[in-house]
Amino acid sequence: MRDGDQYVINGVKNWVTNGDHADTIILMAMTDASKGVKGISAFLIDTHAPGVSIVKVENKLGIRSAHSCQMAYDSYRVPAWRRLGDEGEGFKIAMTILNAGRIGIAAQALGIAQGAYEAALAYAKVREQFGKPIAEQQAVGFTLADMATRIKAARLLTYEAAWRKDNGLDYIKDASMAKLFASETAMWTATKAIQVHGSNGYSKEYAVERYFRDAKITEIYEGTSEIQRLVISREISRS
Ligand SMILES: Cc1cc2nc3c(=O)[nH]c(=O)nc-3n(C[C@H](O)[C@H](O)[C@H](O)COP(=O)(O)OP(=O)(O)OC[C@H]3O[C@@H](n4cnc5c(N)ncnc54)[C@H](O)[C@@H]3O)c2cc1C
Repeated sequence: MRDGDQYVINGVKNWVTNGDHADTIILMAMTDASKGVKGISAFLIDTHAPGVSIVKVENKLGIRSAHSCQMAYDSYRVPAWRRLGDEGEGFKIAMTILNAGRIGIAAQALGIAQGAYEAALAYAKVREQFGKPIAEQQAVGFTLADMATRIKAARLLTYEAAWRKDNGLDYIKDASMAKLFASETAMWTATKAIQVHGSNGYSKEYAVERYFRDAKITEIYEGTSEIQRLVISREISRS
């Protein structure tokens, strides 16, 4: 609600990454509900100002070194000069951040997949069963081959999306494809990496259980895999 040269904000925002560490965050708030998404505005929030509080820090499955928190706004007054862009431009700003952010999540997923693959390969070379390293057992070798192939495809998709963005080309579809494929590759590779480790993969003594837990988030945030498929299908039917 606007009040002179200020806005008064009330509500709760879930899943604010590093909200309890940040001094400044970007908040999208509804400034004119009658306009739907065109009634959303973006604000630069001072997290130490009166009316802003941390309700809780989530106890997460993975990426545990990054905090996620729930933040509450209780009659928080933000000066109008802290609005980003014009009133009603918040959704457009959010989409711009998300489209670019998806390339970053693709890169994050790629790193997790690469780590899980390298751990599985190293383990398969030293663990012997039936008189030879399990990497030489065809089923394990084929799994490693599929990991390497999927990771290479994910890497090329990610690099192409980043290259298109750097060169000022349209990259919305490419960023979604990279994020979708790289995140599903990370989850698949991490799952298989545990399998290659056998029971040891289920132990916290080996890194693959962490890759498995960390991979899952890449299929969820900055738009779930279903939302990426929606974006890609919309973009290809437009072209
Ligand atoms: C660790 C973590 C950090 C995060 N950090 C941030 C952050 O910093 N800032 C921020 O704003 N958000 C953040 N988020 C929120 C995150 O981006 C959202 O939770 C995510 O986009 C999914 O939204 P949702 O939870 O509302 O799922 P929902 O929209 O409720 O979806 C639930 C399920 O339904 C499916 N679904 C929903 N709509 C459709 C549809 N139209 N078609 C097909 N399937 C559909 C989804 O794919 C999903 O499987 C974070 C979340 C997590 C877990």
